[in-house]
Amino acid sequence: MARDRTHQDAAEGADHDGAFILGVDLDGVCGDHEAAFRSVVAAELNVDPATLGPQESWDYHAWGVDDEAFMRIHRKAVLEYRMFRTMPVLDGVAEALWRLSDAGVWIRLITHRLYANWGHQVAVSDTVAWLDEHGIPYRDLCLLGNKPQVEANAYVEDAPHNVEALRATGNPVIVFDQPYNRSLGGLRASTWAEVEEIVLDLVVAAGTSVQGQFTGVEDPTGRLRSGGG
Ligand SMILES: [Mg+2]
Repeated sequence: MARDRTHQDAAEGADHDGAFILGVDLDGVCGDHEAAFRSVVAAELNVDPATLGPQESWDYHAWGVDDEAFMRIHRKAVLEYRMFRTMPVLDGVAEALWRLSDAGVWIRLITHRLYANWGHQVAVSDTVAWLDEHGIPYRDLCLLGNKPQVEANAYVEDAPHNVEALRATGNPVIVFDQPYNRSLGGLRASTWAEVEEIVLDLVVAAGTSVQGQFTGVEDPTGRLRSGGG
């Protein structure tokens, strides 16, 4: 019986010397933060979610949520609605990341979810449970307040200020397309298939070898869920 893989297996003998490290953001890149937060805002303001349009700017003023209300509603979203546990996953994330991981890319998840001084236990445990549920592979998980340079070879990111900060220090950043980041130029992907294609090009350009995929693996995302071993 084939041995099922776990995060621990992925990290076993972990030595990223020479590996191409891909820094992957979570909110707005792996998870549909906009959809999750829209449903919380709609419930809190007692309006139909359909009346809250696409999030076209980084703040939520167009939804009638000023910065003060944002802090209050966001706290409730994390602690009461358990948004980090229930957020919809974006299409194809786990499949693409497993294929990249199998090709030798080191997956380093980087998230900004600890920016407030409350709720760290819920934020961290819900994040890890969510990653397991959706079969998303990773070798490192960086839970950061502010997002510094975390030594990856390339990044996938949706937040305009993070994209600009990373690019300012010379890092290749793939902008994960969202309505609020369309003014940014450079590398851009609208789907995880596009992310995968761009990353493989960057890996080749960096001169790092791309390993062939395992054969006979039909259900990459099931590998973390199938249990046994
Ligand atoms: Mg993000």
